[in-house]
Amino acid sequence: MQGPLSEVVLLSLLVILFGLQQMRRPELYFRFWLYGWMFVLLSVVLWEYRIESASAEIWRECLREDALAAGGIAFVFSFLVTERRWRPSLVSALTIAFPVCAGLDMIVAHRATSGLLIWMVVGGQGAAVAVASRYLSRRSWAFLALMTAICLAFGAGMVMLAVYRNFDDEMDLVLAQLFMLAGLLGARSGVKGSGWMGSLGFIAWSACYLLSCDVFASLRLTHLVIALGPVPKYIVGFGMILKIFEEANAEIARLGSRHQRLYQEYRLLFQSNPHPMWIEDARTSRFLSVNDSAVHTYGYSEEEFLAMMVTDVVAHGAAQDGWEMDLCPAGMHLQFSVGDQVARHRRADGRLFDVDITGHDISFEGREARFVLAVDVTEQQYMNRELVRQAHHDVLTGLPNRMMLEDRLAQWLLRCDREEKRGALLTIDIDHFKMVNDTYGHLAGDECLKQVAERLRSRVRQVDTIVRTGGEEFTIVIGGMSSREGAERVCEELLSLFRRPLTIAGQEVRITISIGVAMYPEDGMDSDGLRRRSDQALYRAKRLGRNCVVFASD
Ligand code: GH3
Ligand code: MG
Ligand code: MG
Repeated sequence: MQGPLSEVVLLSLLVILFGLQQMRRPELYFRFWLYGWMFVLLSVVLWEYRIESASAEIWRECLREDALAAGGIAFVFSFLVTERRWRPSLVSALTIAFPVCAGLDMIVAHRATSGLLIWMVVGGQGAAVAVASRYLSRRSWAFLALMTAICLAFGAGMVMLAVYRNFDDEMDLVLAQLFMLAGLLGARSGVKGSGWMGSLGFIAWSACYLLSCDVFASLRLTHLVIALGPVPKYIVGFGMILKIFEEANAEIARLGSRHQRLYQEYRLLFQSNPHPMWIEDARTSRFLSVNDSAVHTYGYSEEEFLAMMVTDVVAHGAAQDGWEMDLCPAGMHLQFSVGDQVARHRRADGRLFDVDITGHDISFEGREARFVLAVDVTEQQYMNRELVRQAHHDVLTGLPNRMMLEDRLAQWLLRCDREEKRGALLTIDIDHFKMVNDTYGHLAGDECLKQVAERLRSRVRQVDTIVRTGGEEFTIVIGGMSSREGAERVCEELLSLFRRPLTIAGQEVRITISIGVAMYPEDGMDSDGLRRRSDQALYRAKRLGRNCVVFASD
């Protein structure tokens, strides 16, 4: 193989190589280019290796023309597949290529009769127009008209040649039409970027076949056509390679912009998130990345964060549950709506705050990590505590209420039982309190209740419980006693608390109280029984004339 031919072979191989590399692309036309170039390569090889035997030579020429025609059809299909409505396959391309090739074989090998040839031309052009009208979108009727005109013109030429039995030019016309159609379809579907180059090449390729017809012999261009023959192939080949590069570049640009968008989304979701967020090492708990809100909320710089561990911001030993012990019935777990992991954290300046921690396991820079969102719930926690406190406390006196008593009584009974000590349940009622209201007014009555609560509380130890159980009724539970005398002493002291008058709105108000006492375990083993017995004792105290203590067992 010599000169330009070897170059065409190299070029074909190059395009095929590129095409194979791009086979994974979703666009079908790459595949058809690949098929087309394979046929072109075959035709070049067949052109080069001539055979001695005359009959074999005819079949070689048949095959060469067939390969070229099949290549042309593959190129035509490569542009048709870009039509959205149509997805042809190699099978459909071969279905059309086969009759065309058979026709060429008949012309080359059997020098077909004029009549048969004319029918073949009419049938072939009719099929070409039918395919074009079926697969070109409706809007491009002008283009369809152009295609039909070309088919008619070439058809007329072929009929003429058939009449004059010029079989060599007949084949050239078939190939010229195929490559011209490929050029025009290419120009229509892909003139963007380097698409025009391939189209130009196809039209020049077609022109080469046209100019080698006898009709144009008078122009004396045959030598030129032979010399420049491979040039259109170069143009088409390079055009296709350029197109492949362009597609790849566009893909990279698309990926780049997608990457850019993802990065912006990340910045928005992580860095600019209003809540503190961080990524921590699952094994060492070291901070691996923190967002701006974390830096702002905790008061550490990003560098400081990255040198710290999560445990460094946790407020260890801070009496997080202190208020719960104090204000909330023991054993009642506060499950607030803020999530299951509320932690107390410490800012750089030492201030504490409550955070609701939510996290999930991720992989970060090749290691196991945890992605954490920390929402400041200090305010919510405060509100929740306040709600719980209010639910368990009396608004007027600030003492625990009946709801709290239930829980405290249960604990108290358990403790008495465990420590094998006695306990006393005191029900205290202000005597003739109605008169205080009637004499001094309701507001003064309220003030009186507050002061009574204060005086009672002042006498009750921290471990004992005092509760406002009704309007002017209080309950005190005392534990850890070894005898009834302890309870009697406390009751006497409580009565003596009111020997001194109260001062309400500048006026002295004298009140007394009555106390009913039930002892654990002799008067009852459960809270219900004890309360009933102490109520009965109080009732008796009232009947005995008030301002006195009555024990249930008396
Ligand atoms: P006794 O010695 O029999 O206990 O007589 P009492 O008047 O104290 O008894 P009673 O139960 O008949 O009256 C209780 C009164 O306490 C009735 C009600 O007006 C008043 N009271 C209840 N709760 C409040 C309160 O929160 N504020 C004020 N100012 N008065 C209250
Ligand atoms: Mg009363
Ligand atoms: Mg009462």
